[in-house]
Amino acid sequence: MKQIPLIDLKAQYETIRDEVRSAIDDVLENGRYILGPDVKALEEEIAAFCGVKYAVGVANGTDALLLALDAKGIGPGDEVITTPFTFFATAEVVSQLGATPVFVDIDPKTYNIDVSQIKAKINEKTKAIIPVHIFGQPANMDEVVAIANEHDLFVLEDAAQAIGSEYKGRKIGSWGHAATFSFFPTKNLGGYGDGGMVVTNDEELAKKIRILRVHGSNPKYYHSVVGYNSRLDELQAAILRVKLRYLNQWNEARRQKASLYDELLKDTPVVTPYCAENRSHIYHLYIIQATERDDLMKYLKEKGISTGVYYPVPLHQQDVYNYLGYEEGSLPNAEYMAKRTFALPLYAELEDETIHYIADAVKSFYQG
Ligand SMILES: *Cc1c(COP(=O)(O)O)cnc(C)c1O
Repeated sequence: MKQIPLIDLKAQYETIRDEVRSAIDDVLENGRYILGPDVKALEEEIAAFCGVKYAVGVANGTDALLLALDAKGIGPGDEVITTPFTFFATAEVVSQLGATPVFVDIDPKTYNIDVSQIKAKINEKTKAIIPVHIFGQPANMDEVVAIANEHDLFVLEDAAQAIGSEYKGRKIGSWGHAATFSFFPTKNLGGYGDGGMVVTNDEELAKKIRILRVHGSNPKYYHSVVGYNSRLDELQAAILRVKLRYLNQWNEARRQKASLYDELLKDTPVVTPYCAENRSHIYHLYIIQATERDDLMKYLKEKGISTGVYYPVPLHQQDVYNYLGYEEGSLPNAEYMAKRTFALPLYAELEDETIHYIADAVKSFYQG
């Protein structure tokens, strides 16, 4: 039986093999393995791609969030507002700095932070908001930025899942005071290892992050702050430069495949992704809502179709955040979606024929 993975990284590699190998060779021959010319060039290319002035490559998407918040001075006693329906890293970094994550429920259609509920959580300790463009769809940035401006808060877009998507015709990454990307292999722009980046128009902030990523030193061996060892690897940067040239094309292919799924699943009981107005969705994950979710996933597995739950436990219900005291039912949309949603296979190389096979399997599950 045919096995269909959730994502097929090797299929993508096969389309760019020669270019990637030659980029890797160039780095090896050049002999500059840490913060060399490819990191610098990728920073310039990503900044231009997002329409911002500065980009700083770091070790991974988690550190991108961490260093940005650290550079902004977030620390003990501070509160940072974010969504509970995201990967743990979004809140983890807040805790690592000794600050407290404050969770706001999600919009049940887009799965992004429900901006109408943000104001109620703002108090004198609130310092920042981290909207997450979850699954590749931009959060409602106009309203997030308006609320933040009114209360003088720092806006950090967690764009780990959304590089290349647009809000009101402008790239995400250029809406907040800063934004972060992850180049984890499964992300839409993924390396062959870890990597991350912060983008911003704030020169001062970019400068601080550059210092933080090299142990807080400037110049080398002169330390003004305690920093990190968090650099984007030169080899990964060289690989990512090749892949960046294909990003728009791959994102477009994902959109086409997502719309084929939408069409094929429209008369079934599952709820297909909703894309709000004025946004482009890059479908980092194709998320559907289903009744009898776990049985459906098991049924698909038997047909060779891999699926995944993103995310089974909303962050306010994670053991580590018990101390924050969120009761069951306190963020009902996130809790409901954690039980209802899951991802179907989606990647640029996925064949239309396979999408038909998967959609047929979903239909046959409900037809019994
Ligand atoms: C992947 C991801 C991160 C973390 O990125 P890493 O590169 O794995 O550290 C942070 N936030 C979100 C929403 C993510 O999807």
